[in-house]
Amino acid sequence: MAIKIKVLKHPELTWYEKLYIPQILGGLVITLKHLIRFKPITVQYPEEVKELPERYRGLHVMPADDEGEIRCVACKLCEVACPTQAISIVAEPADDYGIERRPKVFNIDFMRCVFCGFCEEACPVDALRMGMKYELSSYNRAGLIHTKEVFFDPNVKSNAPRNNANFLYEMGKGDILDNIEEIDKVKKLTGIYTES
Ligand code: SF4
Ligand code: SF4
Repeated sequence: MAIKIKVLKHPELTWYEKLYIPQILGGLVITLKHLIRFKPITVQYPEEVKELPERYRGLHVMPADDEGEIRCVACKLCEVACPTQAISIVAEPADDYGIERRPKVFNIDFMRCVFCGFCEEACPVDALRMGMKYELSSYNRAGLIHTKEVFFDPNVKSNAPRNNANFLYEMGKGDILDNIEEIDKVKKLTGIYTES
């Protein structure tokens, strides 16, 4: 089959455009408008908390079931799905809770994690979600390996919508924000968060 070639001509500037002065003046007018209507957009973090987009994928959260217990059944599907091998799980029997097993150890190494979300997609029981927290720093490497004791909170229910509920949970846990008014403001974003 013959290949058709379409020749595109480079657009020519009109005499008016070749003057350049009107375009420069137009740009200056836009700059001037921004100067006159100047509104600061800087967020005074951490005193001010920015509401994150609903689909933000931050640090992981392990939501609870209706009894406030960990939902994870240590099936290790998330461990297998993780492309960076950041997840490590050790299972233990959980006959007392009517399930075969649960995680004795559930670690995520945030030096490896690329926040792809494959782990939460792989989970068959909605036991792992990506939350709203983005503060991730440590003075040593060990501090970047988070355990299930950090991820799990009985106050975060599995049916929580993807809003800032998880962010509130993280704030309360890490004492990132001790301003009660700010916490209340975030609480109003959801009716799902419950006090223990
Ligand atoms: S978000 Fe991606 S890289 Fe991070 S633990 Fe989950 S699967 Fe692994
Ligand atoms: S978080 Fe989900 S996928 Fe990962 S081990 Fe637990 S139940 Fe399985």
